[in-house]
Amino acid sequence: MTAEIIDGKKIAEKVREEVRQGVAKMKEETGYVPGLATVRVGEDPASATYVRMKQRMCETLGINSFGHTFPEDATQEEVETLVSELNANPSVNGILVQLPLPGHLDEEAILNSIDLAKDVDGFHPVNIGRLAMKGRDPLFIPCTPYGCIRLLEESGVQISGAEAVIVGRSNIVGLPVAMLLQKANATVTICHSRTKDLAEHTRNADIVIAAIGRREMITGDMLKPGAAVIDVGINQKEDASRKRGYRLVGDVDFESAKEVAGKITPVPGGVGPMTIAMLMANTLRAAQIAQDEN
Ligand code: NDP
Repeated sequence: MTAEIIDGKKIAEKVREEVRQGVAKMKEETGYVPGLATVRVGEDPASATYVRMKQRMCETLGINSFGHTFPEDATQEEVETLVSELNANPSVNGILVQLPLPGHLDEEAILNSIDLAKDVDGFHPVNIGRLAMKGRDPLFIPCTPYGCIRLLEESGVQISGAEAVIVGRSNIVGLPVAMLLQKANATVTICHSRTKDLAEHTRNADIVIAAIGRREMITGDMLKPGAAVIDVGINQKEDASRKRGYRLVGDVDFESAKEVAGKITPVPGGVGPMTIAMLMANTLRAAQIAQDEN
């Protein structure tokens, strides 16, 4: 059996189109244009690239983007003062502080200072707390986990009642994706570096989410035939045939896994394109909430 490929590029385009239409409708009906502020500290090239991609995506979808960059030695007070100003600015609906921040800054305090209604990354402890609680809903769902759920839904995977195994328990991916699946009535098992027999768990799973950061660790023999596999991992693998000397691979060994799984995301082209698309969806939602309050 060869798995059906879950096309993240196509599904992300669908999400972006929904956002484009939502933004256009808001502009037409109210004259208001949603805005996303990005805050970056230091010169980390990867962070600079991510922020640029987010700003470009805003422009493409008609969302205003406000970029703020601090030098590497910015103080806690300077960053928190900017966040307070952005909290008070009615043109800004979402505030995204690009992580990681330089080590001398208190990341948690900065994230906590973001207005809950502008926490489009969904990392505010209150948002995470609501995600964890029965009968409560977060204002915003963290973007990568949100993207994983959307990929499953768009591919027709039955989540309610499914056995779901999440490999990884980070605050940004593993834990929130587990909470979301649980909210959607899956029976959830979270595996991590101390899990005794990982394959024993994954072999029972109807849904496997791999968010480990170890290349090609989940192999076909670790999967239940027909399982839906979402590969969040982004890892470099040496490849002399490529100009840059490597290619990107996931946490799942795609070649062996696709022979066993029922549906599977590729890397690249699976979860990756969804993350920014869901950030845009969260920014539009923030603008809609702000408009409803006016
Ligand atoms: P972290 O390093 O924060 O977390 C990794 C998790 O994997 C930890 O919970 C760790 O367990 C677990 N783990 C490590 N080794 C093993 C093992 N041998 N067996 C079982 N579990 C193990 O990573 P992130 O969650 O931030 O990222 C995971 C991957 O997803 C990375 O490749 C990252 O690049 C990618 N990523 C992709 C995004 C996208 O947009 N596509 C966005 C964010 C991340 P423990 O808790 O015990 O240490």
